[in-house]
Amino acid sequence: MIRRMLFSLALIGAIQPVPGASAQAVPTPREHFGFDLGEHRRLADWNQLTAWYEKLAAASPRVKVDTIGTTTLGRPFVMLTITSAANHARLAELRGIQLRLADPRRVTGGAELERLLDAGRTVVLITHGIHATEVGGAQTAARLAWKLASSDDPRIREILDNVILLDIPSLNPDGTQWVNEWYNRWVGTGYEGTAPPWLYQFYVGHDNNRDWYAFTQKETVATVTGAHNAWHPQIVHDIHQMGGNGARIFFPPYIDPVEPNVDPAIVAALNQLGSYMAADLTARGRAGAVINAIYDGWTPARAYQHYHGGVRILSETASARIATPVDVPASAIGGGRAYDAATASWNYPLPWTGGAWGLPDIVDYMEDGALALLANAAKNRRFWLENFYRINERAVKGWSAWPAAWVLPAAQANRVGLSYVLRILTLGDVEVQRVSAPFAAAGRSVAPGDYLIRMRQPYASFAQTLLEVQKYPDLREYPGGPPRRPYDVTAHTLPLLMNVEAFPLPELPAGVVLSDRIPVQDVAFELPAALRSRDAPRIGHYKGWQESMESGWTRWTLDRHGLAYDTLADLRIRAGNLRRNYDVILLQSQSPASIRDGNREGSLPVEYTGGIGDPGVAALREFVEQGGRLVAIEEATEFAIETFSLGVTDATAGLRPQDFYIPGSIVRLDLDASAPLAHSLGAAASAWFGTASRAFDLRDPGIRIVARYGPDNPLLSGWLLGPEKIAGRPALIEARVGQGSIVLFGFQPDYRSQTVATWPLLFNALTVPRRR
Ligand SMILES: [Zn+2]
Repeated sequence: MIRRMLFSLALIGAIQPVPGASAQAVPTPREHFGFDLGEHRRLADWNQLTAWYEKLAAASPRVKVDTIGTTTLGRPFVMLTITSAANHARLAELRGIQLRLADPRRVTGGAELERLLDAGRTVVLITHGIHATEVGGAQTAARLAWKLASSDDPRIREILDNVILLDIPSLNPDGTQWVNEWYNRWVGTGYEGTAPPWLYQFYVGHDNNRDWYAFTQKETVATVTGAHNAWHPQIVHDIHQMGGNGARIFFPPYIDPVEPNVDPAIVAALNQLGSYMAADLTARGRAGAVINAIYDGWTPARAYQHYHGGVRILSETASARIATPVDVPASAIGGGRAYDAATASWNYPLPWTGGAWGLPDIVDYMEDGALALLANAAKNRRFWLENFYRINERAVKGWSAWPAAWVLPAAQANRVGLSYVLRILTLGDVEVQRVSAPFAAAGRSVAPGDYLIRMRQPYASFAQTLLEVQKYPDLREYPGGPPRRPYDVTAHTLPLLMNVEAFPLPELPAGVVLSDRIPVQDVAFELPAALRSRDAPRIGHYKGWQESMESGWTRWTLDRHGLAYDTLADLRIRAGNLRRNYDVILLQSQSPASIRDGNREGSLPVEYTGGIGDPGVAALREFVEQGGRLVAIEEATEFAIETFSLGVTDATAGLRPQDFYIPGSIVRLDLDASAPLAHSLGAAASAWFGTASRAFDLRDPGIRIVARYGPDNPLLSGWLLGPEKIAGRPALIEARVGQGSIVLFGFQPDYRSQTVATWPLLFNALTVPRRR
């Protein structure tokens, strides 16, 4: 299923229209797919879609297709370039103009700037389908490309003349294929409209849209190198779907907070663009467009472009049941953050009043949104180019809030973390240089070979936000009330996540000699010797039909390190005799009910229902009694505590959010350096505390405390209300049971595969003697 189709597309990049040459007539969607795109219960899959893009490129001088990477499972990752035939004929020249505007240091004066602003085109990147069950995006891409390829409507011509559209028709082709195959398999049965019971990006599922600074997944890297860094678009539009009982479509402005390193001109420009899109849809009578609600502008994990000179427009269209229509009663409509979907308001002036909703509506709304965005980009071409240049000019001059430079000493014990930070910065197009001769500044000595980032460069904001400590504002629903929840996490300080020393220099002394910028770096993944040896423990990693994203991230981390392990499905756990094959079993964060019961009977085809059940619980008990080790993380600690009746409780359970709240922040850990689990670490470390993390209270004095949260206020970066609820409490513990042991992680040692600082704790926990 996975690899069968696409080798014919390896040559896709060679298919280039000759401008002005007579093209074949552009086919219609119905001719190619056998149906119109955006019909109820009809989904084109990725095989059909890639063939469609080949056809469009062959037939239209406006469309070019390139393969800019390969997906996790080996499919081609494609990008369309769509513009007028005349622009295609001088595409290299137009890209050259764009790259000069992206770096004002290369523009020699006002006359040249005027020439560039006159001659350039607005560069727009539209991306679809990152979340594969949000199926409208990939279908919309196919219809939008066809309209742009074939229409001679004056509105389309204006877009083609003024805009270079880079279109990634699926950011997740593996998922697009899976979900569409699954849907087509079950349509017409009782399971119609269900989602496949596995992560729809092979490793990280929905978190593939939280990877825009760590760049772990192949699809992210292909997009960043093949689209973002190759073109530096002024506008990025990422097309999503949301729940079905509120607004029909969301556009920015985002709600507060906006991360403080995002240039104000980016924020203002995206506010007008999103508002324009909502106005355009409302003018066409499309009810239910909301702005300035639900989504905030804090984390760079979703917004690469906000640190690279451009705006990121998120759109979210209401969902149906995959491609199956739904009927929403008026009484079900309501709620929403910063608006009420049942009531008209300034940011939601034309409420949607309920009724039928399905894929045709989804594709129409998405397509209208994309065309409104492109029309704005075309009509305001000169504004977008000049705004882009001014943003980059301010970065090159340096902000007063930024230091003159950041230094990462080359001589650090933690090679993995240093290489990881350097990879992120260099892939993010930050200029990193090496120091040629020693110097001293601000009381610090800088040695030859140290890495230095001058904060007078186009993408300095990307470096600043990732190197500095986050101070998330204390936002409440009302004074003294519960916290206003951020849309995602609140911290992304790489030196803390990755245990790397980095320091700012307020000023850079004259005469400092630096190398040229270094190329993109690789991460020096390193497995501890004990896990590499022939005596390495036999590791099982649990993966049921409700696999958590945390589990998926850990599969990625283990695979990337080349660690051998078995994936244990429910059936294998239920079969018992685990000790015969395994020395250690890992349960990533997952609730006890989900581990035990899995998917409810009748909710999915029977082979995807159920969890480990009572036989599996008994088998895990036996495994530990017989000398195995069970490692449980975050929510799964509850499963271990219940199953083994450990004298442990979750100290954070049942607290009101106004008393304790930590939505994804970095905290200090104090370690018992004499514990084998803390091997190779010092007395303190920084750790990830997310919404599923916890602190422990112990009733059993026999349980060994390996790490506690720091005293007083353990917060290092992000946001934490009620620090006293976790301060000094056990964070990582080990209990002896029978001949075996149980290790409980209250924090997440492998947060989105970024927590190099706590990877040693995870690897140590997996290191037990191999049974002979
Ligand atoms: Zn989404």
